Amino acid sequence: TKYVYFFGNGKAEGKGDMKNLLGGKGANLAEMTAIGLPVPPGFTITTEVCTEFYKNNRNYPAELKGQVAEQLRQVEELMGRKFGDSGNPLLVSVRSGARASMPGMMDTVLNLGLNDQTVQGVIAKSGDPRFAYDSYRRFIQMYSNVVLNLDGDILEDILEHMKEQRGVRNDTELSADDLKQLVSLFKTRVKEELGREFPEDPQEQLWGAIGAVFGSWMNPRAITYRKLNNIPAEWGTAVNVQSMVYGNMGDDCATGVAFTRNPSTGEKVFFGEFLVNAQGEDVVAGIRTPQPINKAGGDGSLPSMEEVMPACYGQLMQIQDTLERHYRDMQDIEFTIEKSKLYMLQTRNGKRTARAAMKIAVDMVKEGLISDREAVLRVAPEQLDQLLHPSLDPKAPKNVIAKGLPASPGAACGEVVFSADEAEEAAKIGLKVILVRVETSPEDIHGMHAAQGILTARGGMTSHAAVVARGMGKCCVSGCGDIKVEYAGQRFTARNGVVVSKGDIVTLDGSTGEVMLGSVPTVQPELTGDFGQIMEWVDKYRRMKVRTNADTPHDSKVARQFGAEGIGLCRTEHMFFEGERIMAVREMILAADLEGRKRALGKILPMQKGDFIGIFREMKGLPVTIRLLDPPLHEFLPHTDKEIEELSKVMNVQAATLKNKVEFLHEFNPMLGHRGCRLGITFPEIYDMQVQAIMEAACELIKEEGFQIVPEIMIPLVGEVKELGILKASAIRVADEVIGRYGVEVKYLIGTMIELPRAALTADEIAREAEFFSFGTNDLTQTTYGLSRDDAGKFLPYYVEREIYPNDPFVALDQAGVGQLVKMGCEKGRQTRPEIKLGICGEHGGEASSVIFCHKIGLDYVSCSPYRVPIARLAAAHAAI
Ligand code: ADP
Ligand code: MG
Ligand code: MG
Repeated sequence: TKYVYFFGNGKAEGKGDMKNLLGGKGANLAEMTAIGLPVPPGFTITTEVCTEFYKNNRNYPAELKGQVAEQLRQVEELMGRKFGDSGNPLLVSVRSGARASMPGMMDTVLNLGLNDQTVQGVIAKSGDPRFAYDSYRRFIQMYSNVVLNLDGDILEDILEHMKEQRGVRNDTELSADDLKQLVSLFKTRVKEELGREFPEDPQEQLWGAIGAVFGSWMNPRAITYRKLNNIPAEWGTAVNVQSMVYGNMGDDCATGVAFTRNPSTGEKVFFGEFLVNAQGEDVVAGIRTPQPINKAGGDGSLPSMEEVMPACYGQLMQIQDTLERHYRDMQDIEFTIEKSKLYMLQTRNGKRTARAAMKIAVDMVKEGLISDREAVLRVAPEQLDQLLHPSLDPKAPKNVIAKGLPASPGAACGEVVFSADEAEEAAKIGLKVILVRVETSPEDIHGMHAAQGILTARGGMTSHAAVVARGMGKCCVSGCGDIKVEYAGQRFTARNGVVVSKGDIVTLDGSTGEVMLGSVPTVQPELTGDFGQIMEWVDKYRRMKVRTNADTPHDSKVARQFGAEGIGLCRTEHMFFEGERIMAVREMILAADLEGRKRALGKILPMQKGDFIGIFREMKGLPVTIRLLDPPLHEFLPHTDKEIEELSKVMNVQAATLKNKVEFLHEFNPMLGHRGCRLGITFPEIYDMQVQAIMEAACELIKEEGFQIVPEIMIPLVGEVKELGILKASAIRVADEVIGRYGVEVKYLIGTMIELPRAALTADEIAREAEFFSFGTNDLTQTTYGLSRDDAGKFLPYYVEREIYPNDPFVALDQAGVGQLVKMGCEKGRQTRPEIKLGICGEHGGEASSVIFCHKIGLDYVSCSPYRVPIARLAAAHAAI
């Protein structure tokens, strides 16, 4: 088997589309080499080796050593240097690279191959001892941390101490002698801490680093990242070994990162940061404040690359253009300049905010780079969420206490916490928090995930916090030099003297970089421009309709603005709770007899009718599915003695009598109790009242306002066709009575929810009565798994963490189990009634993978909450393309 792929000097064994085998970084290094860009030569050890490594108890395939040695020899030849040679040594970087980019998750070692002999060779060849010792001390630091697992702070502290002693701020100000001394201090310390010498043998160093990259695939940070991003553990990582180029050889050297377009806004402006005389991660780690690449990109306080290295800048501009045209997507690139010569070290499709994704996709269609189909695929449905949420009300007063960089847009508000663990704890109990850090590192991922927003004191637009937050769609303000964070005191102080302690509320504006004290009101997003354009294309390609779950005229309106094509689920129980209504509802439930119930229902009828008129009017003739009363009666009961007391006065009965009745109605397992159609069967007058209200509302609007309305009356929790038969008959009786009374023509449909396994299993029978099915996948998931949604919190997260369940089945539809019932329900339903309308109305209707499944099994529509309607539309288009 071929385990190692070479790239260098314009030729590469790999290609850009070999990401599965070579990882993203390796595949793109090969591709860049092949299209003639300046890439230092090297080779990629495949992901297959990683998989074999874990399969074989952390042992490599036997052929690997030989293949690596052979490829290393080729690199030596090209570079005219020898690995481990004391006269003219080749140094390499050892870099990880998974299929999907995992920013900062895996560790890279630079300047590998240095030891007390080879460093002399580097001095002799470069004539620059300062550079040689700077590289050497960096190598020891990185290797000790990444490969030998020494706490990074230990050597960092020695470096800091040295800087203090010398009275300098930046490591660039240390002399060759200082750095040389650091090397020996580092080595001594490593020996003290680890009880063994720092490895001097370059081969040992190389294999140590390769092993560490493969080992880091299973470190907790990487595992967390994979979980959050649904990356399977089986994929494995590749290892790239590449000859070094040096950004730290003086002031004609630099290292930088850039985006071919702005990753926050999507604007077509080359955008990035760089540092003179620096290496590797210096830019993103926030060691010094990075300088902008172009004049337009900075605030003028620091000179740009365009100004200080115009020739390299020109070349970089050309390369970025080449890359964009080649990949036909926005690129995130890493480069290094050695003695005024530019080298490309990485390119990948850049992470971007939803807003940027939209703009870039639309612009690229205009530029003729991609088709509108591709544009639709360029925006991830989940990502849209970011756009659909409110931003700060521009008119609201705000108390700005500091300003940082607008690293990731959106608005966030919450209590301040200072560690990732605290953020996670707080989020678990439902608190909204803002995570405040000096800077973030990959260890903070779980806290960033839990927080509403992130604020850092240090780091630029390409810092860890900024990149990760944008990927998560979280609001982030980074590099906020206006605040001083004190972890010990659990507080930060703004430049203007305001002290913010743990638990205080702040608001962040990720679009302006402003930090505000207290909470600031928000406004709804504008859904026009690029969003409108993409959604127009989306609607061109999707087949499935998207409806909304809405119970009020207001929700209906919001949903229509988001493009809902009807209501798939209008729950009537929420209406029962509104204002004074609950009294009448309680009166009905607790009435002693039919007469009493009818009296109470008589009070509710006009209110229900009013609700339906409002909703029908808002939906302007689009289909509306109304579900008759579903929850257990028990949910409407009075709870406190005071409530019982009040009710007893209204009903003119003894409080004690009522109390008895309440106790009698108590259920042990109400979700499987007296609810849904079982209520309709035992108290027919409730459903009769609701059908009357629906039909009167429809008739009135049709008659008076000339509307087109076809109400869809939905009967919940049916498990046996006879239930539906009985309830359908009485619904028809009531509906026809109303129609006759108004003397108008109205069509209406009567259907059911499929939310019990028995309903799915007998869907062919149920379809004899039902004119439509709506799969209630929330309850269907509960009843299929035997899993109570209200109690699952105690173990479900653990199940997901242990990968016993691949996902929370209430979030993403369980396609293997629950999904099979839905599929069977569809097939059986259509057998009996080919024209039957099929939809889904659980929470899953707004979750991308579930929507795609619904498309595949041939549903007519999905229905979801108003804010998720665009997500469902986009997912439906992705499914259809
Ligand atoms: P990550 O996956 O975290 O981005 P990389 O493997 O890209 O890690 O390495 C981080 C940085 O190290 C690169 O951006 C680059 O600046 C530097 N680097 C990696 N390999 C080399 C090399 N061969 N020569 C010079 N710098 C390198
Ligand atoms: Mg990189
Ligand atoms: Mg239900």
